[in-house]
Amino acid sequence: MDAADMGDDLERVLLTEEQLHARLDEMAAQIDADYAGEPLLLVGVLKGAVMVMADLARRLGGNIEMDWMAVSSYGSGTKSSGVVRILKDLDTDLTGRHVLIVEDIIDSGLTLSWLLSNLRSRGPATVEIATMLRKPEAAKVEVPVRYVGFDIPTEFVVGYGLDYAERYRNLPFVGTLAPHVYQH
Ligand code: 5GP
Ligand code: MG
Ligand code: MG
Repeated sequence: MDAADMGDDLERVLLTEEQLHARLDEMAAQIDADYAGEPLLLVGVLKGAVMVMADLARRLGGNIEMDWMAVSSYGSGTKSSGVVRILKDLDTDLTGRHVLIVEDIIDSGLTLSWLLSNLRSRGPATVEIATMLRKPEAAKVEVPVRYVGFDIPTEFVVGYGLDYAERYRNLPFVGTLAPHVYQH
C-alpha cells in the first residue's frame, strides 16, 4: 500500500519510508554496539510493532531471538488506562536474558510502564526499550526508553504498523489521516 492507494484519506506524510529506514540503520548500529554480541531477546508488542520488529531485527548482527506479546489496555475509547491484560504471553523464559522490548509508539507510556515492570519481575538480566515513535508531550508516566526513532507531535498517526480501525498498518510511511476518515 502506498499514498496513491489512499485516495484523499491521507492528510500528510510525517515520516517517509527513507527516513524510517535511515533511522533504523542508526538504531541497529547503536544496539549492536551496546550489546556487543551478547545474546538478545527482542520482545515485540502485537500488532503495531510487527513492521519495526521485522526491519530492526534484520539489521542486527549477533545472536537474536524474537518473541511476541499481545496486551490489551482497559480504557475508554482510544485512551489507555494503564490497566493491562495479557492476551498472548511470551513463549520464552526470561531468566537471565537480555531483553529488548520493541514498540511502535509510546503515547501516554501507561501500557509500556506496566509491561516493563511485568517483564522485570521475571528475572531477566536486563530489560530495555526501543520504540520507533514517541509523543513526548503526551507522556503521563516517565518510561526510561533507551532507543527512540523519532519524537513526534501529539497527533494520531497511522502507517508502519499503526492502524486506524485495523487499516493502514501496511503503509510504508507514517502519516496523519484526513478528518473525513474519522467522521461517519
Ligand atoms: P500508551 O499506553 O503509550 O498510551 O499507548 C500505546 C499504544 O496506543 C500504542 O502501542 C498504539 O497501539 C496506540 N497508539 C498511541 N498513539 C497512537 C497513534 O498516534 N496512532 C495509532 N494508530 N495508535 C496509537
Ligand atoms: Mg504498541
Ligand atoms: Mg491500534
